[in-house]
Amino acid sequence: MLTRFAPSPTGELHLGHAYSALLGFDAACAVGGAFRLRIDDIDGSRSREAYVAAALADLAWLGVAWDGEPLRQSERLAAYQAALDDLRARDLVYPCFCTRADIAASLAAPHGSSGALYPGTCRHLDEATREHRLAAEPHCWRLDMEKAADVAGDLPWEEQGKGVRLADPRAHGDVVLARKDAPASYHLASTVDDAAMGVTHIIRGADLIASTDVHRLLQALLGLRTPLYRHHALVCGADGKRLAKRDAAASLAALRDSGVDGRALAADLLGGRLPTGYSLQKA
Ligand code: GLU
Repeated sequence: MLTRFAPSPTGELHLGHAYSALLGFDAACAVGGAFRLRIDDIDGSRSREAYVAAALADLAWLGVAWDGEPLRQSERLAAYQAALDDLRARDLVYPCFCTRADIAASLAAPHGSSGALYPGTCRHLDEATREHRLAAEPHCWRLDMEKAADVAGDLPWEEQGKGVRLADPRAHGDVVLARKDAPASYHLASTVDDAAMGVTHIIRGADLIASTDVHRLLQALLGLRTPLYRHHALVCGADGKRLAKRDAAASLAALRDSGVDGRALAADLLGGRLPTGYSLQKA
């Protein structure tokens, strides 16, 4: 059994991150499994080294110990490129030249697609136009979702203790797999890395359950093993809303600085006892 905690170093960790890391660490300890850290730092413009250091200090303060060196996504770009090349060779991705404004405008058009899904503007560009624009314009790479979902067929995955579900990747439309400003999207990097790390159990917040539709599809397309999943309840503040990185009061660094005992807090969180003003939203 191997699980992981994968913070993005774009802000301070808060009580929700602590809860997630503790559930993973505790689950690994319970069966003599491994617990690894991954630093999801592919977004170079928002990631900060200071947040990496703070996250490691927060975890140590909570009594969470990890196996081996943390894996850094910024050092894994070649693996993401190889996965993208594989999909490209099978014509399952296409370059998209749309700006955010282009997409917003076509969605606002009277007969445009509904919802926030990508309207498919660049899906059927002819080869010559595509080649020409590829050389000249910034672009991201999108999955041709209909084609990919057809190739993959049924996509069962298991929510631990709750049974088998079928992923519905079509609900996400032509998702971005490589961004204009970053070599891989969260979906691609996370799926490739979870497999490369040998993750057997993914324990993460219920806010990420929809992503599992896309991750399960990518596993099928790339021939990767499907782990077991556990999407846990989210920690909410006094307003009943789930915590965000901007909620400074709930930051672990703030609690650490105010003299809170990290290990006692960890035991409380694992026991479902949250500090006053915080609660768990049922998953
Ligand atoms: N870096 C992602 C986040 O912080 C990790 C999500 C995951 O556990 O898959 O939301």
